Amino acid sequence: MSNLQNKNVLITGASTGIGRAIAVRFARDGANVGINYPDSPTAAQETADLAKAARAGSVGKELLLKADVSKEDEVEAMFQSFIASFGRIDILINNAGIQKDTPSHEVAMADFDHILGINLRGAFLCARAALRLFLKQGGGGVILNDSSVHQIIPKPEFIGYSVSKGGMGNLTRTLALEYAGRGIRVNAVGPGAVITPINKAWTNDPEAVKKVSNHIPLGRPAQPEEIASVFAFLASDDASYITGQTIFACGGLTLYPEFRENWSS
Ligand code: NAD
Repeated sequence: MSNLQNKNVLITGASTGIGRAIAVRFARDGANVGINYPDSPTAAQETADLAKAARAGSVGKELLLKADVSKEDEVEAMFQSFIASFGRIDILINNAGIQKDTPSHEVAMADFDHILGINLRGAFLCARAALRLFLKQGGGGVILNDSSVHQIIPKPEFIGYSVSKGGMGNLTRTLALEYAGRGIRVNAVGPGAVITPINKAWTNDPEAVKKVSNHIPLGRPAQPEEIASVFAFLASDDASYITGQTIFACGGLTLYPEFRENWSS
């Protein structure tokens, strides 16, 4: 039996991509899953249906939670609905994220604030709500952040995204240190290139996929399920002694791939 059995998990931005794969994986492992989405419920309902199917008959619930994670009142209301349905929260996964490419000198501040608002402020708003509940409930808790290789690798023309993921690294480490003594673990996963809607600019073009793959030491982008499995590990008691870390599930992108062959001396 998985040790995510009967755990209550809230996943932000879970109607598509990696968030959906996490919801399905956690449901398969026996958790009750809160599926956050920002606008139309159609895709979120599809996630819930896939999660239910993954349970293969075992008990567990899916709950749809509409909220824009950058808005304090909506986040507070979302956590209240989660507790009203599930009674307590064991795991928060900050997965919601957006990006936009623009040369940095042309970035509109509204766009910069929008990206930071969702990717970083939203993650903190949700973390703060979860921390308050963990402390009130007792028994600790787990916060996991969906960061990126761009937590440490610069991403030119994506300044808001780069800065938000860099900040997520410090959000992870600071909260981990601050709450370690109270049984709360905080970690992050740093994916590289994953086949999800955020990458629709290249995922439907085989030539573009080939080009992306050439940059990746393992020779291919990831499927969202390969990222979800890292979240499942970090959320579980198998990771009971890990806190403040980012696991880069990136096919080797953080290994300076340009150095695969010697070119300097
Ligand atoms: P995606 O576009 O499918 O997922 C992003 C999700 O965030 C969507 O479901 C969207 O509805 C949700 N969202 C957007 N604004 C929101 C808001 N205001 N409130 C709540 N939810 C909101 O793409 P994805 O690849 O699954 O991205 C998920 C996370 O993974 C992001 O944080 C992204 O930065 C990170 N990531 C993805 C990759 C990749 O290659 N796909 C790589 C590294 C990191």
